[in-house]
Amino acid sequence: MFTLPKLSFDYKALEPYIDARTMEIHHTKHHQGYTNKLNNALEAGNLEGKSIEEILRNVSSHNDAIRNNGGGYYNHTLFWEILTPDGNDIPSGAFKQLFDETFDNLENFKKHFSKAAATRFGSGWAWLSVDANGELFVSSTANQDNPLMDVVEENGTPILGIDVWEHAYYLNYQNRRPDYINAFFEIINWEKVAQNYERSKP
Ligand code: MN
Repeated sequence: MFTLPKLSFDYKALEPYIDARTMEIHHTKHHQGYTNKLNNALEAGNLEGKSIEEILRNVSSHNDAIRNNGGGYYNHTLFWEILTPDGNDIPSGAFKQLFDETFDNLENFKKHFSKAAATRFGSGWAWLSVDANGELFVSSTANQDNPLMDVVEENGTPILGIDVWEHAYYLNYQNRRPDYINAFFEIINWEKVAQNYERSKP
């Protein structure tokens, strides 16, 4: 049985980049909804006790309720963790070294990541992930899919993600998704992303 994770900051803490009302609805309604529906689907399929990563890596063998709500549960859990009111720099170390080798610099990364997030048609996510060879790559997925899933084209372990469903930004930004994406860069917890990178190593 999965439970809704608590946030490490108040709903209003990310203002003006993400407003309190959006955060509250997103966490208490959307994420809670995915969590409840995932639990119901797992119970119905006698699949309780598996880790969410294990379920998603083999998602092709499960039904759409598990794909959609398992993705929704995992994706939002990661999303809250990589956000912070105290935006910080990429800490020096192995992750920063690989990041610079891959993208040259932060501005160039932002260009690639923004493009993936802005051009995702309809609802979905953009990701920074680590592939099986330990390389970093940017991708985007539809709906609540993510790179862990064996049904998406580019597989890896996501370490940073942005939710580009309208429910993530519409109250404050309406149709201006690019403005929301720019705001997101101000509240990334790069220390956490670097930790996620370290944990992604086999
Ligand atoms: Mn969402």
